[in-house]
Amino acid sequence: MSQPTIRITRKGVDRWKAGHPWIYEADLEQKPAALEGGEVVRVEDGRGYFLGQAFFSRDSKISLRWLSWTDEAVDDDFFRARLATADALRRRALPDETAYRVVHGEADLLPGLVVDRFGDFLSVQFLHKATEQRKAALTRLLVEHFQPRAIVNRSDANVRRLEGLEPEKGVLHGALSGPATYREGHITLEVDLLTGQKTGAFLDQRDNHVMASEWAHGEALDCFSYAGGFALQLALKARAVTAVEISEAACAQIEANAKRNALGNVTAVAANAFDFLRDALDEGKRYDTIVLDPPSFAKNKSAVQAAARGYKEINLRAMQLLNPGGVLISASCTHHIDEARFEEMLDSAAADAKRRVQILEKRGAGKDHPVLLSLRETRYLKCFVLRVL
Ligand code: SAH
Repeated sequence: MSQPTIRITRKGVDRWKAGHPWIYEADLEQKPAALEGGEVVRVEDGRGYFLGQAFFSRDSKISLRWLSWTDEAVDDDFFRARLATADALRRRALPDETAYRVVHGEADLLPGLVVDRFGDFLSVQFLHKATEQRKAALTRLLVEHFQPRAIVNRSDANVRRLEGLEPEKGVLHGALSGPATYREGHITLEVDLLTGQKTGAFLDQRDNHVMASEWAHGEALDCFSYAGGFALQLALKARAVTAVEISEAACAQIEANAKRNALGNVTAVAANAFDFLRDALDEGKRYDTIVLDPPSFAKNKSAVQAAARGYKEINLRAMQLLNPGGVLISASCTHHIDEARFEEMLDSAAADAKRRVQILEKRGAGKDHPVLLSLRETRYLKCFVLRVL
């Protein structure tokens, strides 16, 4: 059977030339009626000039996701090479780490695929029809490359619905008996790969977690703590750490992780961080180190204003709660608010808090989360280290 072909408009060709990895439905000359979605299609310009190959999506507004710029066969060898290239980057950039993102979707030229490694275990997301349909082959290739004890499928992400797929999770290979463990700097963390958030943990913050221990001192507060990725690092240097997290299950994990690392100075508090910060101010509490790492407040563009207000509220309160010389580590994972906008919000929060604030570091996700220059969405994580004077 010959490979399906899709022609794209002049505008689409311009985007392709600019290196953008997606083509929207509006830039197809014609939506192919016969295709179901998930196919690898040949992409041509209006005159039939070959541009490359892409995954086709029927249900999403993003119709094409570039896969290759040559006529090569997209088969097991193709994916084997892409996986090996992605892993080679991590081995080179993070030679001592055993927990890292192996595949970061488009940024590793593997759209619709996310693979996180937690020591001997892999946690995988198949986010589009194209990767969902190739699930068995991709799992086999991951087993071949990593020989993991187990591969967990964490495709229980709502974005799958945009592709006409139901969320789904389970064990794809091997056996999972109890939580997996992995290391970040001097800390060992436990993760339940089946019930944890996202793929089990937020590996994008790994380097920032470790960095936090360098700045930690005195009385510390970690808001939106999840399993304690920041809190435990703070506990290595701080006198006492309060970890605030709304999920009871996550609080139990913070406690288990503190115990595992023999850290007796961590207290998990199951509470809404917005309320906790307000009450702490009312009660006259003060801290020397504060981390704010909230979930994304803006899932779409229209929510940006409200999200900016949310970020400002927590940052303003944190600045007011810090003793002079106190450090604020403030993160945001929403790509709708870019670094410049985030910095403006911090500036405005400092003004309202009537505090003078230094920027000590501006950071992003770790090297295992590469950023595609042409795709702003891959540059989502901001992490500022600030000092309140
Ligand atoms: N800081 C964590 C990741 C945080 S993800 C790390 O580095 O690993 C965001 C966390 O905030 C989630 O665990 C979520 O349960 C929690 N959360 C969401 N809304 C909250 C709220 N209003 N107050 C406190 N925690 C909240």
